Amino acid sequence: MHEQVTQFADPSVGLQAIVAIHSTALGPSLGGIRFWHYANEADALTDVLRLSQAMTMKAAVAGLPQGGGKTVVLWSDPHAARGEDFLRSLGRCIDALGGRYIAAEDVGASQRDMDGIAHETPWVTGIDPAHGGSGDPSPVTAFGVLHAMRAALDAGSLAGRSVVVQGAGHVGAHLARLLVDDGARVRVSDIDPERAAAVGVPVLAPDAALGAECDVLAPCALGGVLSRATVGELRCALVCGAANNQLLDDDAADALAERGIAYAPDYVVNAGGIINLAHEWAEGGYSRDAACSQAAGIADTTRRVFALAAAEGITTARAADEIGRRRIAAEGKLPYRPGDPSAMRAALLARAANLREKRTPGAS
Ligand code: NAD
Repeated sequence: MHEQVTQFADPSVGLQAIVAIHSTALGPSLGGIRFWHYANEADALTDVLRLSQAMTMKAAVAGLPQGGGKTVVLWSDPHAARGEDFLRSLGRCIDALGGRYIAAEDVGASQRDMDGIAHETPWVTGIDPAHGGSGDPSPVTAFGVLHAMRAALDAGSLAGRSVVVQGAGHVGAHLARLLVDDGARVRVSDIDPERAAAVGVPVLAPDAALGAECDVLAPCALGGVLSRATVGELRCALVCGAANNQLLDDDAADALAERGIAYAPDYVVNAGGIINLAHEWAEGGYSRDAACSQAAGIADTTRRVFALAAAEGITTARAADEIGRRRIAAEGKLPYRPGDPSAMRAALLARAANLREKRTPGAS
């Protein structure tokens, strides 16, 4: 059950968006804005409900003082740039939620979008690093995945292990390089051959990645790659990658367990992105080193997930959900209301005041 789902429309700029706040029990909800070409509104609604719920679990398991939310914007061309009026209108929609939802980048969005939204609201992260933003989260996400992999393999490094990285995009390319530095034998695949080649390791055809023999398969492209059918093709010992929603359904987790393939749950492994964002409101301001050192803690979280799964005889996917649910039950409070104090709120308000001052010197 979601706390709040709001649909916004501004025909004057062609804006149609849905913001879903799944839970604010642990603090203001945080989640990306996805610009996507949905076949219809029902599909957009399904997506935003599912994605916002996953953000609640991700923040809860990562130990962050925030809840889960998400925005989807119905956008016909995901690569087309947004105009200033459009972004300001979207910013006013987010502002109307009073800080119960904090925006970030997601598929189809860019830092430029976040900067445009920041003209209208303090409740946005991932803005220009020169204005207090945290920049591209992908290196921190990749760093967290590396640490999760080491923990899942119970190894100090990946030396001598073979890893297939599916998707050589922002996270996948960084991860592949980190793995090479850690001593792994790495192959990558991407539907964009130039991206795959740019990594500088052997390349697999996109349709050969899932079935390639390796120690670790790292899905770093789109979601839904693991179903009972595709799990049947795998020839790896561990699945551990950054892609969101890797399991098509619950049955995929059972299929992995039946085949004896270890699965490091996606939202545990890829929490480096939101850990990085959380450092935007850390005391003393954003520091990439501090973000990376907290992301290294994903190793401990991964170990806790595997230990609970073994102790209770459940899949690692269910164990991760259980850890999240237990934390919300133990620490969760009433829904966060606009104006309730939080460190995140105070820091984002101070930053917005600073930004206003820079844009209009002398303004109060
Ligand atoms: P990206 O768009 O930069 O990279 C994705 C890459 O996957 C692209 O190069 C694309 O061509 C490729 N691809 C798509 N379909 C493919 C297929 N079938 N086979 C092989 N390659 C394919 O995205 P990203 O920022 O690197 O994110 C990757 C995944 O990780 C996404 O699922 C994202 O939601 C998730 N994630 C990213 C972050 C982050 O910090 N960027 C944080 C958490 C989760």
